[in-house]
This record gives sequence, structure tokens and C-alpha cells, in this order.
Amino acid sequence: MRILAVGAHPDDIEILCAGTLAACKARGDDVVMAVATDGRMGHKEILPPELSEVRRREQEASCKILGAELIWLGIRDEYVFDNEAARNIFIDLYRRAKPDFVITHWNGCYHPDHRGVEKLMWDAGFVSSVKHIETALPYHPAVTPFFHMEPLAGVDFIPTEYVDISPYIETKKRMLECHQSQLKWLKDHDGIDIVEFMTTVARFRGIQAGVKYAEGYRRVQTWPRGTPQRLLP
Ligand SMILES: [Zn+2]
Repeated sequence: MRILAVGAHPDDIEILCAGTLAACKARGDDVVMAVATDGRMGHKEILPPELSEVRRREQEASCKILGAELIWLGIRDEYVFDNEAARNIFIDLYRRAKPDFVITHWNGCYHPDHRGVEKLMWDAGFVSSVKHIETALPYHPAVTPFFHMEPLAGVDFIPTEYVDISPYIETKKRMLECHQSQLKWLKDHDGIDIVEFMTTVARFRGIQAGVKYAEGYRRVQTWPRGTPQRLLP
């Protein structure tokens, strides 16, 4: 299968679903990691143009660990919202990646960019299948099954499916550790150890699922996105 994971910012995928992506790779899937924004606002001292370059390199390093293709959409950080130009970007994301299912943010997440990505992914997932909607790429004749990954710290989110990521927790950590600009900044300015934060949530979901470490998801079930089989590893 081909899996498309979409995060609003560089490091979101690593925090929220990289263990599952590693499990997908292990079973032979192709994985595409798409990052919507350039992450340029994610620091108090490094200026935006320089930071966007740093964060792209960090994201490339993380994708390399997994052997995933990176699609960098480059939307200005903090400005992801639904308009015609943005919708076309996300339509072409589907048309380029041709996924069998997608994983993206939950629509109850705290950050406006996360909710913007969710809405654009949900809407473009249908429109990309419409033949006479013309964009840069030819249409992708499928309405793709859709999973929400959990929000930061899992607040208010009840998973309907779990993925055992115990064999992949070290890979997930190494991918997250590629985002050094964020690790250091979060520690210095907010006192947050984001690797510990991620590991704690994975352990909490693991307890719920009866394994050491897990990630939780909700599948969005609307016609015509249904399938009879489990898609997650
Ligand atoms: Zn984010």
C-alpha cells in the first residue's frame, strides 16, 4: 500500500504517528510524509527565513531514517486555511501521492494550522477524485480512507484503533531527534522535553492497548471511504 501522512509543521508527524509509519515500512508499504508549512515561526531567536531552511533539513533527515518520500508544501507557517489556492495544493497532494489511506491531524487539535490541514485534507480527498477538476496533475479516481492521529498530549481524544509501535519506538525517537531546533527551543524556553512527552503518550496508549508502546487513531467512516479490512498495521 501507499500511505500518506500529513502534518502541519515539521515534527508533527514524528510526535504523533511516526511509529505507525515505521510499522507500515516494515510490512512493505511505501510511505509519503507531507509537511504543510515551512515551520518558520517555530523559534523565538532564529529568524523566519533561516529557520525554514533549518527545519526543511531537519525534516529531510527524519524522512531519510524512515526511507520515506518527503513532500514539502511550503505554506507560510500559521497561515493554513481553506481557500481556493490552498485547496488546489491539497488536491495535487492526493494526485501526486496516490495514497491507499491517509493519516492527518484531528479536527479537535489545539493549533489552527492543524485544524486547517485536517479540513483541507478532508475536502481535497473528495475533490481530487473529480475528473473535471483541473489542477497541475491528473485526477486520482479514489476517495481515500482517512484516519485522525491524536492531538498533542492526547487530550480529549478516544482512539478507535491502536497500532503497536513497541518495536519502532527507538526509530520514532531518532526521527523526532532530527528536529533539534525544536527540541532545544522547547527545553530552553518552555521546559518541555518533547521526546519524553512523546514517549509518555505512547506508553499511555500502550497501556490502553495491552502493549508497551502504541499510537491511537480514529478512522473517519463516511461513504464512500469504507473498506471491510483493517488498513493500519
Ligand atoms: Zn504542529
